[in-house]
Amino acid sequence: MRVLIARPMTAEVEARARSEFDVEIRTNTSVMSRAEMLRALAEFDVVVPTLGDAFDAGVFSQVPEPRCKLLANFGVGYNHIDVGAAMAAGVEVTNTPGAVTDATADIAMTLMLMSARRAGEGERLVRSGQWQGWHPTQMLGLHLSGKHVGVVGMGRIGQAIARRCHFGFGMQVSYIARSAKQLDFEAHHAGDLTKMAAEVDVLVVAVPGGAETHHLIDAGILAAMRHSSHLINIARGEVVDEAALIAALQTGQIAGAGLDVYEFEPKVPQALMDLDNVTLLPHLGTATEEVRSNMGHMALDNVAAFVAGQALPNPVGT
Ligand code: NAP
Repeated sequence: MRVLIARPMTAEVEARARSEFDVEIRTNTSVMSRAEMLRALAEFDVVVPTLGDAFDAGVFSQVPEPRCKLLANFGVGYNHIDVGAAMAAGVEVTNTPGAVTDATADIAMTLMLMSARRAGEGERLVRSGQWQGWHPTQMLGLHLSGKHVGVVGMGRIGQAIARRCHFGFGMQVSYIARSAKQLDFEAHHAGDLTKMAAEVDVLVVAVPGGAETHHLIDAGILAAMRHSSHLINIARGEVVDEAALIAALQTGQIAGAGLDVYEFEPKVPQALMDLDNVTLLPHLGTATEEVRSNMGHMALDNVAAFVAGQALPNPVGT
């Protein structure tokens, strides 16, 4: 069994992979090229791809009988893989749910606080040497405690965000999901996204990417939001119409935004970088040693199950 891992991993994950499998680990940190994906499908039994490795229908059509039978994705989001095309080619797909939940919810809270309390802008002010000192009306932001949050996508991460908002900040919680959730705290299952957007102080995006959610947050949703409100996106960039968001931030339609992900990642538009009322993070959702190791182990658990001929722990699309 030959295994290809598409990025360098934490030391403990690389050590486990080398001890358990005949493994090749790419040393390049950028996304796989088409040629690399074609070779991966043709020459390896298992591939561990990750964010941005675009295993689309075209790639599978170029390798009609792939040696590869499993894409054990490193990450919970797998919108870069055409799962239908993979399965049609006899390739199963797994992901790493759960391992990422708390860390990503923490980054959502980081962005909520940074955006509401203008932390990025304040840090830039101090670093610029232009800070004139404290005064009662200096850089006033939005007080988060007791406010109303709307969570778009109430899955594992959405619920972890809602929990932090409810228990940590005494916030009222509304959410959008396809099905109502059984929770141990009060949260309103909102039927209409536009209506919910109009009622909340902070709108947090936590749905998967893909065709179904593309531009779910568009100019219409942004127009419905309050001028004092903030938009947070920790999901996938394509869920938010980035051009419409830039316009909403430029005109003051919304007060601010906090972004961990971008529509054409890693490209971040200059117009966003020029704005003071947006906090920009480089996709840090799961970026801790511990979490990245847990994700790696989860991906390798799927590889190990496959190699042993056992049921895959985390299949997707089945
Ligand atoms: P999850 O447990 O599958 O939750 C997804 C939620 O979105 C569910 O509540 C689902 O509704 C809802 N949803 C799906 N499609 C929808 C639609 N068309 N309209 C409305 N709601 C919809 O996934 P998760 O583990 O929370 O992860 C969510 C996403 O976060 C991932 O897919 C990934 O893209 C992103 N992510 C980002 C980072 C980062 O580093 N920034 C890290 C991890 C994950 P139902 O519950 O009714 O099915």
